[in-house]
Amino acid sequence: MSADRWSICPKCLKIADERKAKLLKIAEEKLKIAEENYGKIPADEYEKQLIAARTDISSIEDKIDISIEGKTLREDFGFELKPSGLFSGGYFAACAKCGFKHKYSYSKQLEI
Ligand SMILES: [Zn+2]
Repeated sequence: MSADRWSICPKCLKIADERKAKLLKIAEEKLKIAEENYGKIPADEYEKQLIAARTDISSIEDKIDISIEGKTLREDFGFELKPSGLFSGGYFAACAKCGFKHKYSYSKQLEI
């Protein structure tokens, strides 16, 4: 009657997106500072700063990838129609990582 599935947790995804946006903002600021150093510092140092800033941005994209962190949301759900005509369904989800939970249940006596 119940089926299990592991999915990406919406709360974990939101947390990861917010963390990524914050780190990208910092890295982009670092890139802006490096670009503003053009002509003010030796060319090789300018090049180093530019490469470091660009590497930071691409590594943030790779590091904070929710699909790599895995599917931490366990979902259980099922539907049933009893001989009496009582239809019921239920859904329960819980994240093993952040503790997010959601529960929904439904039942209705059908007209036979
Ligand atoms: Zn979660």
